[in-house]
This record gives sequence, structure tokens and C-alpha cells, in this order.
Amino acid sequence: KRNIAIMTSGGDAPGMNANVRAVVRAAIYRGCKAFAIMEGYEGLVRGGPQYIKEMSWHDVRGYLSEGGTNIGTARCMAFRERAGRLISCKHLIEAGINALIVCGGDGSLTGADLFRAEWPSLIQELKDTNEISLEDFNTYKHLNICGTVGSIDNDMATTDATIGAYSSLDRICRAIDYIDATANSHSRAFVVEVMGRHCGWLALMAGIATSADYILIPEKPSSSKDWQEQMCTIVGKHRAKGKRKTIVIVAEGAITSDLQPISANDVKDVLVKRLGLDTRVTTLGHVQRGGTAVAFDRILATLQGVEAVKAVLDVTPDTPSPLIAIEENKIVRKPLVEAVKITKSVAEAIQNKDFEKAMSLRDSEFSE
Ligand code: ATP
Repeated sequence: KRNIAIMTSGGDAPGMNANVRAVVRAAIYRGCKAFAIMEGYEGLVRGGPQYIKEMSWHDVRGYLSEGGTNIGTARCMAFRERAGRLISCKHLIEAGINALIVCGGDGSLTGADLFRAEWPSLIQELKDTNEISLEDFNTYKHLNICGTVGSIDNDMATTDATIGAYSSLDRICRAIDYIDATANSHSRAFVVEVMGRHCGWLALMAGIATSADYILIPEKPSSSKDWQEQMCTIVGKHRAKGKRKTIVIVAEGAITSDLQPISANDVKDVLVKRLGLDTRVTTLGHVQRGGTAVAFDRILATLQGVEAVKAVLDVTPDTPSPLIAIEENKIVRKPLVEAVKITKSVAEAIQNKDFEKAMSLRDSEFSE
């Protein structure tokens, strides 16, 4: 039997609470002790019962639908350093934990895998400096790690959906539905900026779901002249047919083919100057993270939490850390390192203006 801890890390996402609930209850169901690490890696670095709490079945009551993360999340610089990971190792051993499930984005999962890989040298150092006993050294030889992907951006390779993305998409679509009415009444154009960092999934899907006139995403950049020309032609055509409202969705990471950022205000200026439209900018901001999780995220987070507990109980020192993914509607395990590697390669390919490579990487399965 293992003592299993769950933490949420990186940006919060609706469904993280459902994931925590599922992990806690699945762990208890399987006869393990369940713990929550408060405030992401910050809680590991700080340690002690205030930050590493044993959780009972009832502690997670009501978590299923709640947005955000009740156990807290933080960006933690200390965990990026070996010294921070060394003290975290000691704190986990003190709490008796030998399996860790991290729900977060690619940064959090990179940190998790690094921690797992370093673990043998960390406990060796703790033993050599008499920070832990020989008995603890022998008991905690391996830390089993498993990742679930909590991120509204849907930017992780090898999984079709991340926990929180569909809730965020729902918020965006509702906001655009509200904007539609006023746009229609005043015959206005609205430029809506949505989140997603380097990933255009939210913008693209929101565009399809709200029948936006034009969508700008980082994955399909064109020259400054080309996107302006294309947008004005399409919007102009729609207006000529009598459409009274115009909606353009801009992903926050939208860029031109020479990697210049395209802001919502840039788009507004074009619509005003070239088409003479009364244009407003709406930046949805943190509203996109708020509210309860949609049914899909509750289900995804629950099924993945249950699978994550099974996975940490299965992992041996020789098996790579798993990432719990969803692929063609099935909950599956993927190698965590590979998923993080592909996700990072996509970002690098975009930085190097190799958009075709970025796209094929995003579509590809593993190299192995
Ligand atoms: P989101 O996609 O929502 O931003 P994320 O998990 O990618 O989530 P990050 O800020 O990149 O968010 O990472 C969260 C935390 O994970 C960091 O504050 C840090 O503590 C840890 N972390 C990230 N990268 C590393 C790394 N290379 N080594 C060790 N720890 C890391």
C-alpha cells in the first residue's frame, strides 16, 4: 500500500478540484492513505502538516463541480533549484509519502519528472548528511509519479483534451453570445481576445462554436498584409450581405509569419480604418478560468484521477512515469517525458518559424 499525495500546480483550471476528489477517494478506496499538497510545489518546499495534509473521504465533499483549486496552486521558483527539490524530498519522507500525482501544465509535469529522476540522488544526499535515517533511505528508495493535465489551454501533446479546456471554452462562448446581442443592436464589430498562450485551440473552437467572422491563432500565421487583406475581404462580404454584427476572435498568442504579436487593438485598428466599422475590444481575461466545471471536465477529471491512482500503484522503478491522457474517448497512459518533450518542441518550432513542423508535431503520435 502506498501513501499517495495529489497537488495542483501552474495556472488553475476548472476540474482540478474534481481531479483531487477522485484521487483522494480512489486512493482511500484502494486502502491507501491520501494526502493533499497545498499551494503546488510551494507546499512541498515548505513542508509540515500545514502544507502536507492527510485527506479523508469527506474532506473533498462538494469538490466535483467547483472551479479553481481548493488546495491552492502557486508558481514556485525554489522548486526549480536542486536545493528546493532536496528539501521537498525530505518533507515527503517526513510525511510518509511515496507516490505523487501532479495535476498541472507542461511546466509542472517537467518539474515532476525531474524530481522523480533526481530522487535516488536526493535521498542519497539526505542519508549522507544524516537528514534521514537508514531505515527511511531503504523505505523511500523510489518515488512513484504520475501526471494529469490540468490546463485551460489544451496545449499538451499526446492528449486530446486537458482538464479545464472545455469549461473555459464554454465561458468564452457564453461571453460571445452576450456580446452578439449588443453587436447586432448597434451594428458593431467586436474583437475578442481569448487565452491559450501559444496554443490557438480555445480561439479556434470558440470561433467555430460562435460562428465568428474571422479567427487569428498562433498556429496559422500569415504576413501582416495577408491577414489584414483576408479579414477585410471576409468581413466586407458578410456586411455586404446584410450582417449587422462582426466578431473577430484573437488568440492571445496570435502572431504574424515574422513572429510579430497581433493584438486585439491591432485588429480593431484595421476594422476601423479599412472598413469604417464601429469596433470595440473585449478582453475576456480571468473570466475564462472562472465558474464551475462543465460536465465533460468533471467526467474527465474523475476518470483520470481514478486511473492516476491505479497508475502510481502499478509503476515500478523501471517503468517511465505515466501521464494520464484521453485519446479517442479512452482514458490511457502515455509516457510523461515524451508528452512534455513534444509540447516543448512545438513551442520551439514556432519560435524558429517552422510552422509546418509545429503542426505535424502537434498532430503526431510518439516517436516510439
Ligand atoms: P500553465 O500551463 O497553466 O502555465 P504550468 O504547469 O506549465 O501550467 P509553470 O509556471 O510553467 O506552469 O510551472 C508551474 C511550477 O512548476 C513552477 O512554478 C515550478 O515550481 C515548477 N516547474 C516548472 N518548470 C520546472 C522545471 N523545469 N524544473 C523544476 N520545476 C519546474
